Formats: sequence, structure tokens, C-alpha cells
Amino acid sequence: MAYSYDSENIFAKILRGEIPNDTVLETEHSLAFRDIAPKAPTHILVIPKGAYVNFDHFAQTAPEAEIVDYIRAVGEVCRQAGVEDDGFRLISNAGRHGVQEVPHLHVHIVAGRPLGRMLA
Ligand code: C5P
Repeated sequence: MAYSYDSENIFAKILRGEIPNDTVLETEHSLAFRDIAPKAPTHILVIPKGAYVNFDHFAQTAPEAEIVDYIRAVGEVCRQAGVEDDGFRLISNAGRHGVQEVPHLHVHIVAGRPLGRMLA
């Protein structure tokens, strides 16, 4: 599938410094920041700095160094946030059925309270 990237999406604006964010980790290829409308005591978004719409787009087209950096950034944020002991959830909404609001790849790290079952 060919993806077209909307460079006016809100995370692209965050990456260009046009909109502020509460950064928790920045690496060469990735940025992690607190969600502006947290759904749990810990709610952090991790995005690659490159222009990727979703995981499929990223996996198909990103250089390996960016993929490695991104996966490590997700793990590092979890470690720094101290969510490993009680547990956490990673969520990546994609497309219409996934109700993806921002068309720039992101993983939600959600933790800090019992999250219940997502799928019955
Ligand atoms: O996965 P989805 O695209 O639906 O989620 C986008 C997330 O981006 C929302 O949780 C929203 O609160 C967050 N957001 C943010 N900062 C903004 C705009 C949106 O953290 N400036």
C-alpha cells in the first residue's frame, strides 16, 4: 500500500517546534511526550521523527537505524516511567477502524491503574 503523509498533522507541527509538548525522551530518531489528554496516570506517546503514517508505512520504508531507535525509545520510556513492575499497555491506533486521530505513527504507553480487558 502507498501512503501519503500529511505534513500539517499535529505531530509534524510538534516535531517542527510549532506546537509545544511535554517531552520525556528525545533520541536521534524518536520523540516521546506526555499525552495532552491523559487517559491514565501515565500516558506517553512515542513517535518517530520521520514522516510515517503508521507501523506498516514505517516497517516498509524506514531505514533500520530509525526502526531500532524507535523500538528502543519505547522500551526506554517504559523503563524510565517505572511501569514495568505493575504493567502497562502499548496501543497504536491505525486508520479509520482504529480511530487514528493523528496520521503520524505513534504508540501510546498507558499505565498507572488497572486497565481492564480491551478485548472481551
Ligand atoms: O491514537 P490517536 O491518533 O487517536 O491519538 C492521538 C493522541 O494525541 C490523543 O490521545 C491526543 O490526546 C494526543 N494529542 C496530544 N497533543 C496534541 C494533540 C493530540 O498529546 N497537541
